[in-house]
This record gives sequence, structure tokens and C-alpha cells, in this order.
Amino acid sequence: MLVIGAGCAGMRAAIEAHDAGAEVALVSKLHPTRSHSGAARGGINAALGNAGADSPEAHAADTIKGSDYLGDQDAIELFCAEAPGDIYQLERWGALFDRDAEGRLAQRPFGGAGVSRTVHAADVTGHVLLQLLYEQLLARGIRVYEEFFVWRLVVGDGSCRGVLAWDLARGGVKALAAKAVILATGGSGRVYHGSTNAHACTADGMAMALRAGLPLEDLEFVQFHPTTLFPSGLLVTEAVRGEGGLLLNSDGERFMSRYAPEAMELASRDVVSRGEQTEIDAGRSLDGALLLDMRHFGREKMLERFHGTRDLALTYAGIDPLERPLPVRPGAHYHMGGVASDVDGRTELANVFAAGEVACVSLHGANRLGGNSLMETIVFGRRAGRAAAEQALGKSGGSEIEPSARSDGEREIAKLLERREGERPKAIRDELGVSMHENFGVFREEGKMRRQLELLEDLRERYQQVLVEDKGAVWNSDLTQALELGFQLDLAVCMVSAGLERRESRGAHARPDDYPERDDQNFLKHSLVRWSNDWLDLSWKPVTITKWQPKRRQY
Ligand SMILES: Cc1cc2nc3c(=O)[nH]c(=O)nc-3n(C[C@H](O)[C@H](O)[C@H](O)COP(=O)(O)OP(=O)(O)OC[C@H]3O[C@@H](n4cnc5c(N)ncnc54)[C@H](O)[C@@H]3O)c2cc1C
Repeated sequence: MLVIGAGCAGMRAAIEAHDAGAEVALVSKLHPTRSHSGAARGGINAALGNAGADSPEAHAADTIKGSDYLGDQDAIELFCAEAPGDIYQLERWGALFDRDAEGRLAQRPFGGAGVSRTVHAADVTGHVLLQLLYEQLLARGIRVYEEFFVWRLVVGDGSCRGVLAWDLARGGVKALAAKAVILATGGSGRVYHGSTNAHACTADGMAMALRAGLPLEDLEFVQFHPTTLFPSGLLVTEAVRGEGGLLLNSDGERFMSRYAPEAMELASRDVVSRGEQTEIDAGRSLDGALLLDMRHFGREKMLERFHGTRDLALTYAGIDPLERPLPVRPGAHYHMGGVASDVDGRTELANVFAAGEVACVSLHGANRLGGNSLMETIVFGRRAGRAAAEQALGKSGGSEIEPSARSDGEREIAKLLERREGERPKAIRDELGVSMHENFGVFREEGKMRRQLELLEDLRERYQQVLVEDKGAVWNSDLTQALELGFQLDLAVCMVSAGLERRESRGAHARPDDYPERDDQNFLKHSLVRWSNDWLDLSWKPVTITKWQPKRRQY
């Protein structure tokens, strides 16, 4: 079996599949430790109760409220119940989590959480986990096809035969057959111009699933993180606000008192980002930025807990947060939507699974709580690894990719490389990113979304003549960027189409002008988008409620 993607979700899935007895290989367009999970800073959530009374039930209640009641409560309950066990497993493998004065795993406050629940390794938690999982991968001798760019799922007779990949280091199309495939390709943040995501987060897995006929769920929900450094867009971790960082407007006022009088800076991210955007729109910002003040932390706390954040501020903004507040603004950060999958990563195709940010279980509903997605990669990566291994082990015989599927892929690449005239991807990509921010950002509105769909149609038309200037076979990033742009354009159409149809404001989907209220009567449901041959089908499926009835959400 194959796992596509070697971030935290992909590596955790591969480890579990191996331990379940399956023959597994990982395929990744990056070296595993360069995966985007390494950028995760603040921490990972589990109800350990080390910093105040806590329980999986309380974790579930916070997650459901954070999701604006769109998260599936059965999946959330399972996730919260299994999270502590996974933390102890990571610790047994050697994760260097911080400890409190009594020697227990330390837990810090994060937005939208009623108690300090976020386990951490200073402000480099993702880096620590990625290295740890890679070590476990190597210890098991799991094969990794590194720097292989997968761009197509090969589907025939109702099941997936494997994938087509472009070998970046040697050039050439490789057909990799498999009895089961797990998509763990991460998120889509680079659909937006101002994004905290790495350049590699280009929605590849979501778009491949879409093209293979699978439905994508809740695509309209994109999380804007309240504290991205201005103007670079790099993330300043929520742990800064968790540990007392203050948000100020240009009048020096703690403006969150207007939007979340109790939780203030620690309201959920959608609420804080909307508060910030409202301040910016009202002219109470400094050239479009608010201020994050952490001067009162003092040198010792700053260096012990936020050395990475201070380095980032010094390097990319030339500001020492011990001396001056940091300019910040909301930036695209996380996609709550993704490939519709269940708690074992199962999708509509029996032998295709999804885990991590590429998937929509749905754990986060309309808004994710910080710290829940690293945990998602571990809990659901593990579960998808186990389920896919069982699927692969239960199948007799090998799997094959028809030669015609491979030659189809070769023709597609040859056509791109042979084109002599056209437009380079960059201009189209820039227009996509800027316009998505403008027309499908923190606040949305019917007219802008319709304009965005028209613009996307135009960009997709131009993409038909995209020019790959580098004609070489080896390390041809021109080629992969062109393929990535195709993924991003397809996804953007689906995102905006779903956004137009959701005529309410819920979580990260805010329509203050035309539909300012949440509408449980008509929209307490998940959107599902399918798309084939330019035919887009939008349907809905119910939200699973176990015991938390939707309530008005206040922080
Ligand atoms: C700056 C930042 C900080 C964050 N901090 C936190 C935090 O503190 N706590 C928290 O819970 N969450 C945090 N998040 C969110 C969290 O880090 C991510 O959601 C999570 O790490 C995603 O993991 P993943 O394994 O799904 O994907 P990734 O880590 O993005 O891995 C994707 C993998 O897929 C591979 N891939 C992609 N496309 C292809 C292709 N076409 N062919 C082959 N391989 C492919 C890549 O090479 C990579 O190996 C943060 C996010 C950001 C952006």
C-alpha cells in the first residue's frame, strides 16, 4: 500500500500500517522532514488534566462550540477520548515535550479552550514531532519515494489501482501500483496570497480526489489566523496570546473587549480575526496592521518559551518583541474542508483513505481550535493507517496500473513540456491568490463571490495555455508549479461555489452584509462538492449531533 505525503499524518499512518503487517511505502514531493507539519509551533491538544481539571468530554464540548456546531460530534468524541493515549505513545517514542514543576507534561492555554490543554515543545512542537516520526519510520525501514510528485490517482472498475508520479530528481513518469492508497498531502493554504502555509501547500490531494470523482466536504470554511506577521504573513503562534500576549489597535486599545468581552484575545480564531478585520476596516489600524504586545513577558519567559517567535520577528520584521509590539493581521491558515472521510480515513472509494489536513472527518466543522490539527494528524493518521492496512491485507493478488493509464499521463506531461507559447504560471497564481483574499477572505458577500467565480473562469481559460519554460526532465519545478496551479484553480472554484450556496454566517464563513446570522434551520449541514468535466454538483449531508444541541456561541 502507498501513503501519499510524509507530514505528521502520512508518517503516522505509514508507521501504523507497517506495524499492522502491511507492506507500505511513502511517496512525497518533499523530503519528509521538510513537510509543512514542521512549521507547527504552539502545541497539540489532549485532555490530560495536568494544568487544571479536564476530561475528554470537556475537550469535546470546546471543540464542538469552536466548530460553531458543524463538527460531527461522534467523530469529535472519539478523537478527544483517544488523544491522551496518543500523547503518551509519542512520549514513549521520545517526544521532547515540556514539563511542569512537578515533572508532568506541561499544558498551555489556547484559544477557545476552557482549560490549559495544549501540550508543547517550546514553540517548535511540529518540528519535534516530525523528527520523531521520521526516526520511527527509519527504525522500521519503511521505504520512502522522496521527491516524487504525485499528480493522478489511477481509478478503474470502481477502485484505485495506484498513482502516477513525476520523479523530480531523475525525471520521468512513474506508475506506482497499490492495493490501498492513503492521501496525506496536507492543506491548500497557497490558494491565498497572504498565507501562513509553505509554498508546497497547494491542495494537490484534494484536487486529485476531486478529479477521481470523490466528494470534498465543507470547502467554504477556511481559517484565517489572527496573528500573522505584517507584511510577510509568517505565523506568530497563538501560544503568545495563550500566555498573555495582548492585541491592540492604533489607539492602543485592547479592542477584543468589543467582540469577546470574556475570552478577549483567547476567543476562537474566527471571532478574533473578524474583530481584527472590523478594526482594520474602521481605520483603527496602522496601515492595515494591529499590534501584538508581548513586551511584559520579560526576557526570561521570552527566551525560554518563545525563542523561535523572537527569532522570527527579528529576522523577518526587524523587531525585537521585548522592545516593541509586533504588527499582525489575519492570514489564511488552515482548511477545515477536505476529502470527505470517516474516522478511519475511509472515502467513497473502498481503497482510498485520507488523513490530516487533506481530509474532512469532520472534526473542526466551521472553525478549528488551535492545537487540534496536530492531534488530528496523529489520531486519524494512526486510524487510517490501520484501516488501509486491513484493506490491503484482505485483498488477494497484486494491483496493476494499465499501461494505457501510464501513457495517458505521459502524454499530459509531454503536451505541457512541448508547448512553446503561452503564459507562465506566476501571473495566474498571483491573480488567484490576491483575488481569493479580496473576494473570499475573512468577510464574504454575494457580489464578490460571483465576481470571483467569473475571474476563476477566466484564469482557468488562461491556464489552458500555461507555459512551462524549463523543458528539462530533472528538477523541473516549472513543471510541478504548473501542475500545482491546476490543482489550486480547481479547488478555488469548488470553495467559492460552496461559499455562495451557504447563505448564513457560521464559524469562518462570515457574510455580515447579506446573511449575518447562523441559520440552523436551513444550514446545519455539511456541503459536498463533486466535479467532473466542468460539471459541478453541490449537495448536503447532515451533521451528527450526539448530545450537544446547537447554542448561541459567545466567548
Ligand atoms: C505556521 C503554522 C503553524 C501551525 N501550528 C500548529 C500548532 O501549533 N498546532 C496544531 O495543532 N496545528 C498547527 N498548524 C496546523 C498543522 O500544522 C497542520 O494542519 C498539519 O501539520 C498538517 O499535517 P499533514 O500531515 O496533514 O500535512 P503536511 O505536514 O503539510 O504534509 C503534507 C505532505 O504531503 C506531501 N505532498 C503534498 N502534495 C504532494 C504531491 N502532489 N505528491 C507527493 N507528495 C505530496 C508533502 O511533501 C508533505 O510530505 C499550524 C499550521 C501552520 C501553517
